[in-house]
Amino acid sequence: MNLSILKINIDFRYYINYLNIGDMIMQDPIRKIFLAFIEIHILHHAKKEPIYGSWMIEELKHHGYDISAGTLYPIFHKMEKSSLIRSKKVLFEGKIRKYYTITKDGEKTLNEALIKIKELSNEIRET
Ligand SMILES: [Zn+2]
Repeated sequence: MNLSILKINIDFRYYINYLNIGDMIMQDPIRKIFLAFIEIHILHHAKKEPIYGSWMIEELKHHGYDISAGTLYPIFHKMEKSSLIRSKKVLFEGKIRKYYTITKDGEKTLNEALIKIKELSNEIRET
């Protein structure tokens, strides 16, 4: 099989998964905004300490985001592909667990996002 076609298919599958938050039944525009919030949230925690999937799902639950592993992992994958986070496999209680930490690019993106969030939040409060 043509490898590039295979790669496109895989990318396409992730893209579909990424947009298809079945666990968050929402209108598309809202879903996209929430996905961006989730990414910023991931960057924030991956900066403080290495994080892993089930921990992040619980953490997001505390903030009112009901997200499944099937939704979160494609987000991790996409962010790693964009060099915002990097993963490391660690053996934990006989199982391989993937820990994610922020990269330099990720820190830069997070800082820029925080400036924009602050600016927007001030603007909204003023009106
Ligand atoms: Zn948090």
